[in-house]
Amino acid sequence: MKTYDAIVAGCGPAGITAAMYLARSACSVLMCEQLTHGGQILMTDTLENYPGYPQGIKGYELADLFIAHLDDLSIERATGIVDSITGTAGQFVVQCGDQTYACKTVLVCTGASHRTLGLDRENALLGHGVSYCALCDGNFFRGQMVAVVGGGNSALEGALYLSKIVGQVYLIHRREYFRGTKIFFDRLNESRNVTVLADTVVTKLHGDSNLSGLTLRNVHSGEEQHLPVDGLFIYVGFEPKTDFLPADLALDSQGFILTDTEMRINIPGIFAAGDIRSKFCRQVITAAGDGATAAQAAFLFLEQL
Ligand SMILES: Cc1cc2nc3c(=O)[nH]c(=O)nc-3n(C[C@H](O)[C@H](O)[C@H](O)COP(=O)(O)OP(=O)(O)OC[C@H]3O[C@@H](n4cnc5c(N)ncnc54)[C@H](O)[C@@H]3O)c2cc1C
Repeated sequence: MKTYDAIVAGCGPAGITAAMYLARSACSVLMCEQLTHGGQILMTDTLENYPGYPQGIKGYELADLFIAHLDDLSIERATGIVDSITGTAGQFVVQCGDQTYACKTVLVCTGASHRTLGLDRENALLGHGVSYCALCDGNFFRGQMVAVVGGGNSALEGALYLSKIVGQVYLIHRREYFRGTKIFFDRLNESRNVTVLADTVVTKLHGDSNLSGLTLRNVHSGEEQHLPVDGLFIYVGFEPKTDFLPADLALDSQGFILTDTEMRINIPGIFAAGDIRSKFCRQVITAAGDGATAAQAAFLFLEQL
């Protein structure tokens, strides 16, 4: 069996960047992707915050440009779910779909996914009023009415961020008390355009091509009300999937992979980059930056083997 210098698991911004850097350093690289290249960018209608595109760029266009960057590089690709990574530094075995591959180092760039509310048409309205990222999409709702769902710090930070951009924010939480840090909540209470709706859940999304409103239900009284909004920002959790990695993997309290600044994890020879790792800001630019760092660190690791 051929032994690759590196296998990159996941073909989102982090994985594509890592593969590009490694191939340019003359390493033999195999990329394993379960779906299609691009990762979460493909779920993004327009990105307005990726440098170099002052007018914004469609998610699928950026994904195509990213992958086109690999065209002239010698990178092999496999389609399939990476199910397991076993072995030790210099001798890893990666199971991808029904194929088994050998490599000296592995770069885990498999991202994470947002938990949904599970409502009808939530997916259809994604990018048309429904969003999971205030930093990414808040600007589309300047001066408008939006709702934020969730009770943790992400929801509170998202609501605070939006309160500086939009006309009115409704912060909806299914419980009476918020889990997020008090300082965020205090700041929200001081904002003149934030209304907190506690003990409340969203039961229905309205709107044909774009979101136009929500049906809300009070969890105690069962009373329903209609809330007209242009945007709904959902912060009910973000899930990394790491079950295919060795069991002694070090994770943070939320299940994200702990890395050092060189993207090394606690298992020598494996690196993690992008949304899968424990970090502060999950964006395309930071994922690509992580991918570049991980590739450079992996290259040094290969040289030292
Ligand atoms: C709706 C939405 C809008 C967003 N808008 C913006 C924005 O405007 N600006 C911005 O900067 N960021 C935005 N983001 C965030 C940004 O897309 C992510 O931070 C970024 O894509 C993370 O890159 P990544 O490579 O770490 O992971 P991902 O993009 O998640 O890519 C991971 C890849 O790994 C693959 N994969 C996962 N598990 C396996 C496995 N076991 N085997 C094989 N393949 C696997 C996945 O299929 C995927 O292709 C948005 C995200 C969403 C969901």
